[in-house]
Amino acid sequence: MPQNQTDAVYDLAIIGGGINGCGIARDAVGRGLSVVLAEQADLAQGTSSASTKLIHGGLRYLEHYEFKLVREALTEREILLQNAPHIIWPLRFVLPHNKELRPAWMLRVGLFMYDYMGGRKILPPTKTLNLRQDVTGKPLVDEFKKGFEYSDCWVDDARLVVLNALDAKQRGADIHVRTRCIGAKRVDGVWEVQLQDVKSGATQTLRARMLVNAAGPWVDHLLHDMQTLPQSKNNVRLVRGSHVVVPKLFEHDRAYIFQNGDGRIVFAIPYEQDFTLLGTTDRDHKDCLDNVHISEDETQYICDAASIYFKQAIKRDDVVWTYSGVRPLYDDGASEAQEATRDYVLKVTEQDDQAPLLNIFGGKITTYRHLAEDALHKLQRWMPDATAAWTDKATLPGGDFGVHDVPQQMQQLRHAYPFVDDTWAYSLIRRYGTRATAMLGDAKRKADLGKDFGASLTEQEIRFLMAEEWAQDADDILWRRSKLGLHMSEEQRQAVADWLQA
Ligand SMILES: Cc1cc2nc3c(=O)[nH]c(=O)nc-3n(C[C@H](O)[C@H](O)[C@H](O)COP(=O)(O)OP(=O)(O)OC[C@H]3O[C@@H](n4cnc5c(N)ncnc54)[C@H](O)[C@@H]3O)c2cc1C
Repeated sequence: MPQNQTDAVYDLAIIGGGINGCGIARDAVGRGLSVVLAEQADLAQGTSSASTKLIHGGLRYLEHYEFKLVREALTEREILLQNAPHIIWPLRFVLPHNKELRPAWMLRVGLFMYDYMGGRKILPPTKTLNLRQDVTGKPLVDEFKKGFEYSDCWVDDARLVVLNALDAKQRGADIHVRTRCIGAKRVDGVWEVQLQDVKSGATQTLRARMLVNAAGPWVDHLLHDMQTLPQSKNNVRLVRGSHVVVPKLFEHDRAYIFQNGDGRIVFAIPYEQDFTLLGTTDRDHKDCLDNVHISEDETQYICDAASIYFKQAIKRDDVVWTYSGVRPLYDDGASEAQEATRDYVLKVTEQDDQAPLLNIFGGKITTYRHLAEDALHKLQRWMPDATAAWTDKATLPGGDFGVHDVPQQMQQLRHAYPFVDDTWAYSLIRRYGTRATAMLGDAKRKADLGKDFGASLTEQEIRFLMAEEWAQDADDILWRRSKLGLHMSEEQRQAVADWLQA
């Protein structure tokens, strides 16, 4: 990219290609604005690929009296489920009653509120379980006799980000990955935004009437770089959360939510067919943001917390993969990390009523669509020609089918491509929904898809991800656009990297 200054002035420039940046880009371009987004790494490479992957109200936030947050998040659950039934699906959670901790009546009251606060229509309500008889009691130690089962949803977080970016692009937004914002200033009533290509080092300057700082955990770094925030001041509290993945601990399709003695909770969730996902932790994060990873004691904490409930003790050696992310929580002065608010805060600054800057602090994957609507509402007076909010009834790319129609989609795919077996069809529909046919193209047999890298990943799929979904390196493909890395050997993963290099 040469050093240049384009004459075009965008309506809106967005820094950060996590869920919030991409959600705002999609919403804004759909309202008729010209939009550009810059992401310094890969889409979702920050916190938005490192979540617990739940579209949920957050049962435990009820204890912190976050009723507004829980109600809004519960309402979003079914909206998002209908808009992206390929990457979001209903998940039932089993909450065993632990006599040492919260009393059963308290759990029942909490779950009653959870059932009725968010206008639930599709998801089934809570029920009480006899864990001695129910299949979900089998892997648990015998002292847990009673439990409750309630509804939430699961999401492929990294794909949710990419699908928002893709929809934004299809509607006309310019999306730049591996492009870092290195500065921004107001000049003659508009923003001049300096961008740097991370690979080549080349810079360019863009102009935009409005600027959104959706840099997640880096939100304050960006403000420091723009010299609009003193070095000493911080708006967000950085709280690291880590997860571990172990071979499948149980055969059924429900998840567990375990209470821990320290007041926290740990989830055990069926993951990628062959695994169980365990997490998460809550630790203040003081280190660098570029390499966030789990600590020894976090691994031990998760293994210990889950081992209180499962008959099978979980050991560190069982762990096959880990990931960590940093929550950019709005710093409301809470003393404990787990008590800091999970709600988002939006703040606009402007100069002489021009060139507004919208900063986003906090948020959840679950509330990203609502956050995007709120963000554009805050900028409304600078965008008089923008059309009304629209995303509540609009499906994301590939999600144009019914909430319960995945089996039907698989059947249609197998009919059109007889060489695709059931397992493969399931994973393709879960990744691409109705776009699976665009990936498979006019292939008549598996060999037509080129080299097979293992775990069903073919050359054609890699090319598709590079051409259509901004993938550039092996991690983008194996750990964010898909989780196929989990099903491959080290040699197979290296073969993908080598092929890309070549
Ligand atoms: C452990 C954990 C579990 C969670 N579980 C859940 C859950 O189950 N459900 C839920 O709803 N929420 C959950 N969350 C919260 C949710 O993941 C986050 O709120 C959300 O992902 C934040 O998105 P974001 O877009 O603000 O930030 P990010 O995803 O971090 O995106 C910010 C992006 O900005 C980019 N960037 C930064 N600086 C620059 C720059 N100068 N130039 C260009 N780009 C830049 C970064 O590279 C990054 O990709 C969880 C969070 C954590 C940490």
